[in-house]
Amino acid sequence: MNIKVMTLFPEMFSGPLNNSIIQRARDNKLIDMEFVNIRDYADNKHKKVDDYPYGGGPGMVMTPQPIFDCYNNIINMMNMEDGEKPRVIYLSPKGRTFNQNMAVELSKEKNIIMICGHYEGIDQRVIDEIVTDEISIGDYVLTGGEIPAMAIIDSVARLIPGVLSQNQSFEEESFYLGLLEYPQYTRPREFRGFNVPSVLTSGDHKKIEEWRREQSLKTTFERRADLLDDMELSKKDKGFLKKIRK
Ligand code: SAM
Repeated sequence: MNIKVMTLFPEMFSGPLNNSIIQRARDNKLIDMEFVNIRDYADNKHKKVDDYPYGGGPGMVMTPQPIFDCYNNIINMMNMEDGEKPRVIYLSPKGRTFNQNMAVELSKEKNIIMICGHYEGIDQRVIDEIVTDEISIGDYVLTGGEIPAMAIIDSVARLIPGVLSQNQSFEEESFYLGLLEYPQYTRPREFRGFNVPSVLTSGDHKKIEEWRREQSLKTTFERRADLLDDMELSKKDKGFLKKIRK
């Protein structure tokens, strides 16, 4: 996967995406990332990238020219085949709220361009002309799109085949199967008087699987009952939920 991030602050990305699993994925060429400074494309003497909003109001708006020119340059560099189109994501509190299904969908893309806004955001003509998706990371407002871009890149990158090792599989994690994950325990078996649930040390894999499923259902029911609405549940699941509802 090829990700280009358009930002006024490329240096912000160096910590979070230069470590651990993501750095290894970059080293192994499973994912290529580049952080492009929009300001480098401003065609005015002072490299100004924002201006007052038409119609008045507080704050500044990012002007279209540097963003369009930066985008066109990226498109030319991407060497895409005929008909191939990148997903162009504008990070915005007005966008669709990001979730695991969207991460799975994006992990299948070959080329992704992300645009990080600042100030009051970007000129609407950029959104109308080049953006394919507006994505929010939640119902709150941040100062810029960089942290949302990092969160999305991290969650998408770990779904690309080969990025996680086999024993770091995401297939049993929260949201993957529509449920929140069961509780996890590790050694020691007894810690300051608190014991690991005995089923986990029983060696009975069928019982462990059942316990985990029930714990997932219970946690989801208690914390995110809305997730259960879209789930296909087995007869056994339904029976268990009926029991805990009581
Ligand atoms: N005036 C905008 C509004 O009311 O919708 C908010 C602008 S915000 C201060 C500046 C930039 O931060 C946005 O252009 C966007 O790129 C980013 N941003 C802020 N909150 C975000 C969120 N929840 N999800 C994604 N991006 C966000």
